[in-house]
Amino acid sequence: MKIICVGKNYELHVKEFDGVVPSEPVIFIKPDSALLLKNRPFYLPSFSNEIHHEVELVVRICKLGKSISKKFAHRYYEEIGIGIDFTARDIQRELKKKGLPWEKAKSFDGAAVLGKFLPKETFSDLRNLSFSLTKNDQTVQQGNSKDMLFSIDEIIEYVSSFMTLKIGDYIYSGTPEGVGSVAVGDNLKAYIEDELLLDFEVK
Ligand code: ZN
Repeated sequence: MKIICVGKNYELHVKEFDGVVPSEPVIFIKPDSALLLKNRPFYLPSFSNEIHHEVELVVRICKLGKSISKKFAHRYYEEIGIGIDFTARDIQRELKKKGLPWEKAKSFDGAAVLGKFLPKETFSDLRNLSFSLTKNDQTVQQGNSKDMLFSIDEIIEYVSSFMTLKIGDYIYSGTPEGVGSVAVGDNLKAYIEDELLLDFEVK
């Protein structure tokens, strides 16, 4: 199983990140050891002083596929969920400066948090889906899938042109603006529309 993530998929987040709007999806992979499930606590790693939350809509691949065209991409996922792409921003900044890959900043244990999934039919329009993250019950990130630079179906087309998508793979579709640090004792909750799908503590 692999976890595919899309970086810089919301224009306002691109502005707070590096300002360079991508002409094609920016993708990277997290290992399965990064998964954090079932509202288990997230333990802050000692190698970073700046762990940022990035709340993102996530789909789970339900069918094997390669070179999937955008118009058939919807057949490859049945459920939608929400997750957090935890990022060691201080480390990412250093790596980026040196032109090195981001793995150390993105792939540590617990860096891919996943909440509950819902059948995609739960929502009338996946291209107009609001989602949010609260930290200690204050809203810190709010997004809507209509603001994605590349839709989930376009991401599937793009990613599957390079690698086979397998059943159980996850795709994190990018974060909206408002990324910020987490600290020991924080409670994080993530919602799609009004559905609370993720609720956990930082330790
Ligand atoms: Zn992200």
